[in-house]
Amino acid sequence: MPSYRDFHRRSIEDPEAFWREEAKRIHWETPFDTVLDRSNPPFARWFVGGRTNLCHNAVDRHLADRPQQNALIYVSTETGIERRYTYTELHAEINRMAAVMRSLGVKRGDRVLIYLPMIPEAVFAMLACARLGAIHSVVFGGFAAPNLAARIDDAQPVLIVTADAGARGGKVIDYTPLVDEALARATHKPPHVLLIDRQLAPERLNASYLIDYEPLREQFFDAHVPCEWLESNEPSYVLYTSGTTGRPKGVQRDVGGYAVALAASMKYIFEGRPGDTMFTASDIGWVVGHSYIIYAPLLAGLTTVMYEGTPVRPDGGVWWRLVEHHRINLMFTAPTAIRVLKKQDPALLKQSDLSSLRTLFLAGEPLDEPTASWIGDALGKPIVDNYWQTETGWPMLAIQRGVEVLPPKLGSPGVPVYGYDLTLLNEDTGEPCAPGEKGVITLGYPLPPGCMATVWHDDARFIDTYWSSVPNQHVYSTFDWGVQDEDGYVTILGRTDDVINIAGHRLGTREIEEALSSHTAVAEVAVVGVADALKGQVALAFVVLRDAGGYATDEARRTLETDLVKTVDRQLGAIARPARVHVVAILPKTRSGKLLRRAIAALAEGREPGDLPTIEDPAALQQVREALDTQRS
Ligand code: AMP
Repeated sequence: MPSYRDFHRRSIEDPEAFWREEAKRIHWETPFDTVLDRSNPPFARWFVGGRTNLCHNAVDRHLADRPQQNALIYVSTETGIERRYTYTELHAEINRMAAVMRSLGVKRGDRVLIYLPMIPEAVFAMLACARLGAIHSVVFGGFAAPNLAARIDDAQPVLIVTADAGARGGKVIDYTPLVDEALARATHKPPHVLLIDRQLAPERLNASYLIDYEPLREQFFDAHVPCEWLESNEPSYVLYTSGTTGRPKGVQRDVGGYAVALAASMKYIFEGRPGDTMFTASDIGWVVGHSYIIYAPLLAGLTTVMYEGTPVRPDGGVWWRLVEHHRINLMFTAPTAIRVLKKQDPALLKQSDLSSLRTLFLAGEPLDEPTASWIGDALGKPIVDNYWQTETGWPMLAIQRGVEVLPPKLGSPGVPVYGYDLTLLNEDTGEPCAPGEKGVITLGYPLPPGCMATVWHDDARFIDTYWSSVPNQHVYSTFDWGVQDEDGYVTILGRTDDVINIAGHRLGTREIEEALSSHTAVAEVAVVGVADALKGQVALAFVVLRDAGGYATDEARRTLETDLVKTVDRQLGAIARPARVHVVAILPKTRSGKLLRRAIAALAEGREPGDLPTIEDPAALQQVREALDTQRS
């Protein structure tokens, strides 16, 4: 195994040589002529001129060596359904889906919006897009209609693939009425909507534009659709993520760089070997789902386990039984899930044979020390915290299991991963931070393969948002605070912007504020993220009413609060729901009118906000204090 330092240094000093070697992990139909095109910073183009295809690399390429190995194991504790697909069977299903899409006019470069629950057809649809050279844009099933409409308008899909319903915790969520509302709201009208009918929705919408998948699948049962060979830098997908504005950004990914980066990460970070079984408990609507439920495990010839359900239904032992039953080697989830499991009977963990499990990976939000210690002790296996974001597509910080395995330090996701020129910079001067000094986590140019290529249809936004925020430096900002110790280990200290992280899900406080502002009773609103023992963070809202007199009684206030919470549910989905909505007469702002969200968050977490020389009216803080006191009492 290479030494960590040498390996990392080589990747930064000579990225061309480093990635030329790693590019051998995938099939190139036409070899690339240039490893890296740096002619137009901050844009970087990897493997220029090379032609390849993600679906070919994830599936077709394995048909010779592992045709009968399971590629996908699907388990739903919501419906009781379990299905297995060998690489041969997965290949056939993708071909059927691709043929159906093709018959509906989908072609290379077209966008296909996928709004599906955790069902195998979601995997078929994503890989069918990859096969055809179409660009998938998966929208998390928990998002509501206005969210979906915004993504339809931005991505302008030629096709939407959806299902009658999803299910979570025993509750069925009808999808078709949400799609219907989104289509009514959106300006762009996709010509087709394909429906996977699980026969789960009690009352499925009967709109004429819904095309049933099943008869088409039958019609194209024996179809073979050739892979489109795409230039390495053509887009593979767009995945929307929250930022500081109410308008989510479409993170655009390439084809060749992503394939190479993920295949390499399976070896060097996850130590996943062909034939292993990996269970990533996330959702296809998030980047972890894209990269580590679907693409990376399949690119590397593993079996991937896709799970619909919660970690505690029918009981808190369900995931551990999956490990035993499917001989799972690698598991990947978010710290929130472990905090949920920690509340369960510890005996449940001991009841299953976990001998197949080598490593548990955790990402998406800070891993607190008690949770890390508890699960580490309970499993007796390495726990690998890893830090990254939708934009990067794969980990930036980790103890890399396939390089020299450095000793972990509790509270830190580890050291910079090869390929990432990660530096902590002073927010005001742009100077590098000394060990122990807090700074913004930044990445030098070029970003390694697999990272976002640009913001969909908005190169200017890519430059302005990500590459222009640190003074005197042309670096990519992660918008995370961190601190690095003398050995290079980084600890994450929270966001520099107004993005919050609820149970591993990233949300912009601005989005929630906009949803609340749409309620007629609301004049002004501030939303902040505050620490929560289970979810990492929750959202708290403070609203100023247009007509406070109209809600004078406790009952009227309670009804209003319920109504406001429902407004967020309707506009953004339940994941964005604030834990509490407080009514105040005035919000703390600077004299120039900027909301002092950090001061509010400090009070909500029981900290003092410190000096606020620019505050317009100190009485506003007192209002927030009083509202919080009533909540606590
Ligand atoms: P997302 O793009 O939704 O995956 O969210 C990415 C953000 O989640 C990062 O910018 C961090 O703020 C946070 N995050 C992800 N992984 C970790 C981790 N291992 N430790 C601390 N924060 C994390």
